[in-house]
Amino acid sequence: MVLFCLGLEGTAHSFGAGVVTDEGKVLSNEWDMLKPEQGGIHPREASRHHSDLGPKIILTAIEKAGINFSDINLIAFSRGPGLGPCLRTTATMARTLALKLDVPLVDVNHCVAHIEIGCLESEFNDPVTVYVSGGNSQVIAFAGGRFRTFGETLDIAIGNMLDVLGRELGMGFPAGPIIEKLANEGSNFHNLPYSVKGMDLSYSGMLTAAKKLFSEGVPIPDICFSVQETAFGMLAEIAERAIAHTKKQELLLTGGVARNNRLTEILKGVSERHSTKFHRVSPSLAGDQGAMIAWNGILQFKAGHTIGISNSHVLPKWRTDEQDILWRA
Ligand code: AMP
Ligand code: MG
Repeated sequence: MVLFCLGLEGTAHSFGAGVVTDEGKVLSNEWDMLKPEQGGIHPREASRHHSDLGPKIILTAIEKAGINFSDINLIAFSRGPGLGPCLRTTATMARTLALKLDVPLVDVNHCVAHIEIGCLESEFNDPVTVYVSGGNSQVIAFAGGRFRTFGETLDIAIGNMLDVLGRELGMGFPAGPIIEKLANEGSNFHNLPYSVKGMDLSYSGMLTAAKKLFSEGVPIPDICFSVQETAFGMLAEIAERAIAHTKKQELLLTGGVARNNRLTEILKGVSERHSTKFHRVSPSLAGDQGAMIAWNGILQFKAGHTIGISNSHVLPKWRTDEQDILWRA
């Protein structure tokens, strides 16, 4: 019998619902991202977005999967890390559905889900993963029963840095794709803080310095070009060191910023130098979406893990390396 899992993702500005089978077939993957007209994301507004649009997105995901609610065997939800109000709204929907349909509930770590959906798509077994998004910048690999964070940002995430810079430069949200496009028109490189500390990164100094270049009249394409080269070079350095240390044979790029072609090109270069395989997760599975939560839910369920409603409180600061990865043990 085929198992159907409905996965709900709602850690930050996006709400997603996806249906995946235990054979790893993604039957549907619906989502919507809150795009504030000005300023950043307010957790309360994002959670309202999720409660307003969530039910419709869930219905569409079920419909597009070609199943009925009664076919669902399992509900998975993003338990953390993320913004408290968004996590709670999403968890409430998941608990309600699990109770109503009388099916098990599974709690999923958002960052781990990004890695596992990447492994499903690439057929990788044990990669070094570069996970770059609006809220996270991490280099992760499996060791000793858990996904270990080998390096990460010490302050803001790379996607957040690009979005905040874009806002200062008068771009819409999200700014990442606009910066990528303009960077192709830039050619003059300006020095920006290249901040790698051991295996960790810092992007806040670069943001300040890039804003200063703008105030000095440096053309926007040159700023975009310089920011991309510096920010992506930093990531490549720690990814390369992670490969050298772990001797893993696969390099996986995922998260919303994985949509960037220049970053992909640079990391591909790293993988070629180390003779590892390389995969960039396809755009529909790279950002925050429900299919990755559903697939991770299946993996956990098959390893014998479910969670009771009364224990299912959200974990806004749940780190990648705080979960025993039972299905890889
Ligand atoms: P996520 O947090 O995974 O949903 O991804 C959203 C983030 O990805 C935002 O910060 C976007 O600016 C960023 N992003 C999306 N497309 C690109 C791109 N082509 N280049 C750089 N960043 C991007
Ligand atoms: Mg994410």
